[in-house]
Amino acid sequence: MRITVLAGGVGGAKFLRGVRHFASSNGRSDEVTAIVNTGDDVTMHGLRICPDLDSVMYTLGGVIDTERGWGRAGETWRIKESLAEYGAEPTWFGLGDLDIATHLVRTQMLEAGYPLSDVTAALGQRWQPGVQLLPMSDDRCETHVVVEIDGARRAIHFQEWWVRYRAGLPALAFVQVGLDQAKPAAGVLEVIAGTDLLLIAPSNPVVSIDTILNVAGIREAVLAAPGPVVGLSPIIGGAPVRGMADACLPVIGVETSAQGVGRFYGARAAQGILDGWLVHTEDTAVVDGVAVLARDLYMSSDAETAAMVADAAALVGFDL
Ligand code: GDP
Ligand code: CA
Repeated sequence: MRITVLAGGVGGAKFLRGVRHFASSNGRSDEVTAIVNTGDDVTMHGLRICPDLDSVMYTLGGVIDTERGWGRAGETWRIKESLAEYGAEPTWFGLGDLDIATHLVRTQMLEAGYPLSDVTAALGQRWQPGVQLLPMSDDRCETHVVVEIDGARRAIHFQEWWVRYRAGLPALAFVQVGLDQAKPAAGVLEVIAGTDLLLIAPSNPVVSIDTILNVAGIREAVLAAPGPVVGLSPIIGGAPVRGMADACLPVIGVETSAQGVGRFYGARAAQGILDGWLVHTEDTAVVDGVAVLARDLYMSSDAETAAMVADAAALVGFDL
């Protein structure tokens, strides 16, 4: 069977560990592909940085710093310190010494003309994620946040809003710069068109999942996917499990609840993306045209997460 997952960074990465576990358990040998958000990508100090792809790659490669949630375990920060001593901006972004090696290889390959999808595959040679990783697009399509600073409206890069301001500056809107030129990365539409089961990771609905869906053709491909589509709620009891997704949903007028997100995604029968929607045990959701299941959604271990995947599949009658 072919399983495809739309994923952001930390939540997506944790979920993918569970999907990988599911795909090789009980004698299964499913092929798993992750289509990962690249709206967070940014260039700093001349380095091309892909935070969500790296979170997924390091997590699946077993080298993520689990406490910090991003970057490599055993990281050191000497280059960052040295850049700060030069007064080189920005100083607010975490760039670890080990991590910089990844960005150097990526930047060099991109400058040599390789598309990001090829670069991602090459980096994966080292970490063997066990899952095919595809960026949503090979083209630049960076999320910006419209904010007011000193009385003036400005669009700042998503990373500046998220990391520097800890999502504390009220956001007026999210804008994907480059969206009108961006095409899905090589392979993305083909993978969706050939998938037996499509899963929407419990990732940030606004700046991870919707960002992917907005790339020309991807939402339409999901709508036309041959297999069922099931999503998992990142919102438990009216708040994100981790992170600041609650700073994003109100900006687009969506209630921070499992039901709010489910309705935002909508039923495929009504031009949305879902056939099934998993919410946490104490949550409820009524979404027209979507089968809803309440179960534990804390991804406490790969086996637990794999059990969520099995339930998601069963919910939409996917033949296990
Ligand atoms: P980011 O790109 O690093 O922000 O990560 P994602 O967009 O992939 O995921 C962020 C979301 O993951 C947050 O909204 C969290 O609520 C969600 N999340 C993290 N851990 C869990 C978990 O154990 N269960 C569920 N249901 N959601 C989780
Ligand atoms: Ca992200």
